[in-house]
Order: sequence, then structure tokens, then C-alpha cells
Amino acid sequence: MTPASATSPSRLTIVVPFFNEGANVQSFFARLVPVLNGLGLAWDVVCVNDGSSDDTLDRLLAARARHPAIKVVDLSRNFGKERALSAGLSHATGDAVVIIDADLQHPPERIAGMIEKWREGYEVVYAVREERTDQTLMTRILRRVFYALFDRLSEVPVPHGTGDFRLLDHRVVTVINRMPERTRFMKGIYSWVGFRQGGISYREEERREGETKWGLRGLLRLGVDGLTAFSNFPLRVWTIVGATISGFAFLYILFRLIRTALHGVDVPGYESIIMIVLFLGGIQLLTLGILGDYIGRIFSEVKGRPLFIVRATYGVDDGPDEGWHGAEKVGAERR
Ligand code: UDP
Ligand code: MG
Repeated sequence: MTPASATSPSRLTIVVPFFNEGANVQSFFARLVPVLNGLGLAWDVVCVNDGSSDDTLDRLLAARARHPAIKVVDLSRNFGKERALSAGLSHATGDAVVIIDADLQHPPERIAGMIEKWREGYEVVYAVREERTDQTLMTRILRRVFYALFDRLSEVPVPHGTGDFRLLDHRVVTVINRMPERTRFMKGIYSWVGFRQGGISYREEERREGETKWGLRGLLRLGVDGLTAFSNFPLRVWTIVGATISGFAFLYILFRLIRTALHGVDVPGYESIIMIVLFLGGIQLLTLGILGDYIGRIFSEVKGRPLFIVRATYGVDDGPDEGWHGAEKVGAERR
């Protein structure tokens, strides 16, 4: 198991989404850069500014002034983390790409372990969270429910406790960049593409500054997106529900007919009628809602809008052989 990319001296691209992380920029690079320098590879960092309204962009450009291997993709507005990652991946040219959060919840020190596994031949190395420290009871319950549903319904299994903190071989990055879908449920996409996948563990740290960008609504939206993007079950289940209800209804009709034949017509029956009408009405509305959700998804795919819009880039379009830190040494061996 040795992919070609792991045998020759290689280059590592780090992809980081930034949304209003101005207060974290400096401490993030202060911790990341020494780690990268210690790996013995050429590296660069692709920072995506996801429409921040604070001084994130200025600080990123200041960091770039000190380290030319830090590159910036500035999006035209906030597109959300999943699309910001797509933007970062489409500008990542390394043989391996590591995705990491800007808030230092993902310890950069674990990147060495990921590289090791990658060299063993794994094309996707995901980091498994040992314990999440920053969650409220509500989000914890929601996460549980989501995973329980997703495990049962989805076309692909998603390892629990994993997120975007992971290493992707450049081949995997190419494949993900070619996936046209607009509903970017990255967790599902990582699994869906296949390849040899392996995990390392990490202990999640407290967010350094600021607070999480995912409110309850955001998480719910992400959960529904994930389920409907990777499963047709919510569409199909109504056939079974419908068939079961019709079956019971048929039995009930038989029962009423026989009863009427034996005992004659009895007028009461209001409760049973109202119950059946309400129950079926509810189910029909629910089904309509689910259909609507998929149709909405089809609508947004059909519009074919771009996933993200880039306002400006700094350094990423310099050409594949420029702007690598440590490339002088490694680049020579490469040729
Ligand atoms: N993020 C982003 N766009 C968004 C929301 C978040 O690029 O719309 C980035 C954010 O700057 C951080 C990462 O995604 O680097 C994870 O965000 P956060 O820490 O808020 O999420 P959590 O760790 O709570 O899952
Ligand atoms: Mg975080």
C-alpha cells in the first residue's frame, strides 16, 4: 500500500476556513507554523476568509506578509463552513491536504500523526475526537439523534466523532473538487468518495477566542441537509407507511361490514372517523413537507449557481511551484 505521492518528497497544503476569527489569527499561526516546520516537508497554508465582518482579512494579510507560504482566498460573502472548505480545497495543490479549524480546537501537533498514516498508504486520515468539551446538553442530544438516524438511513457510514479535521490525499481532493452538488454535507462526502480511510485520535481543546458559529438552527439545518443529501429513505418510507395503513384500513372495513351485517347499522362512530381523518391528514402533510424539501434541493441544484464566489486571492494563483515554505530543499529532490 504505497501511493505514488507518498514515496517522493511531498508537499503539504493546510486548508483553514476563517469566519470572524480575527482574534485567533495570530495565535493560530504562532502554533501552526513551528509544527509545519518540524515536519520536514514543503508546506503552504490556504486560508479562506468566509466573508468575515471583523479584521480577519487584514490579519491574514499581515500573517502573509511575514510568511509568503500563507495564502488567502477572500470570498465575496459568508458562504458557510462547508462551502468555504470547497473554496479552500479547490485552491489546494499539495500532495496531501489537511483541513483544520482556525480556533485551535484541532491541535496542529496531530498533523504529524496524520502524515505518518498517509505514508502508510491511507488516502483519507480522519481525526477522531476523544471527548467534546464545548457542547450544551441540547446539541449533544441532537448530535446523538442525528447519528442514530444517519447510521440507519444513509448510503454511507460516517465514523462517529469525526469532523473536518482530516488529511486528504491529492487524489481525494481532485475527486471532491469535481463533485458538483450544491448541498455540501462534507462529512457525508468524505465517506462517499471511498478510498483507503483510517483514523487517529485527538483531544479537542477549548475554543481559543470568540464563540462557535453554529447555533441550534444551523446545526438542525446541517442535520436535515445531511440526511436528505445522503439518503432517499425519507422519500421512500411513505410507501411502507401508506401500505401498512391501507392494510389496517382494509381489515377495519371488513370488520365493520361483518358487524353491520350481523348487528345492523349503528350511528355512533364519530371518534373513529375523526381519528382516521386527522391521522391521515397529518401523514399527508408530513409527506408533502418531505417532498418539498427534496424539490427545494432539486431546484437549487438546477439553478446551477456557483458554490462560492471569490473576491480576490493572495498567493494561491502564483503557480503550483511557487510560494512553498521549505520548497528549496524539497523541490530539488523532487526533480
Ligand atoms: N467557519 C466558517 N464559516 C462559517 C462558520 C464557521 O468558515 O460560516 C469556520 C470557523 O471560522 C472555524 C471553523 O469553521 O474555523 C469551525 O467553526 P466553529 O468553531 O464555529 O464550529 P465548531 O467548532 O463549534 O463546530
Ligand atoms: Mg470551533
